[in-house]
Amino acid sequence: MKESSSVDKLKKTVFVHDASGIFAGVPLRIHGKHYTTPAIIEEIKDQHSKFLLDLALSSNKLEVLTPNDALLREVKRAAIELGEHVSLSHPDLTVLALALELKRKGYEVVIVTDDYAVQNTALYLGLDFISVKTTGIRRLVKYHVYCPTCGWQGITSLKKCPQCGSPLKKRVKL
Ligand SMILES: [Zn+2]
Repeated sequence: MKESSSVDKLKKTVFVHDASGIFAGVPLRIHGKHYTTPAIIEEIKDQHSKFLLDLALSSNKLEVLTPNDALLREVKRAAIELGEHVSLSHPDLTVLALALELKRKGYEVVIVTDDYAVQNTALYLGLDFISVKTTGIRRLVKYHVYCPTCGWQGITSLKKCPQCGSPLKKRVKL
């Protein structure tokens, strides 16, 4: 990717999209630089979104970047601390990692997502977001991870119960 100019004192706002932003055609509607990741591109299957994606790519409104591995690991750790890793997919994590990477390069970053787990993790990481359809969450929520089948609870980076293998769920930490 191109290096951001260090002499440029003015922060530039850039938008990082998950599939919901692309689905809504946001890169074509909002002025500014728009980014997404290869993992998100792979998620886009329906014709309408593909059409909007091709249009955004061919008109240079949208650029596809792979986030740095170290930042991806950092975002995963943050998701585990929050208990959000049970809700976040790999593409979700790449969006958060790319946003964090661009922020550290001096950009004013806004994530475009309708996903509450992405929004919550963004808040935790100090990243801004806008939602396309939903109203969006207003405050950070921390979760306990538990197994609805056998009742196991604890801290884990797993998405499945270490005791019985059922998918783990989360509930709000009080
Ligand atoms: Zn279990």
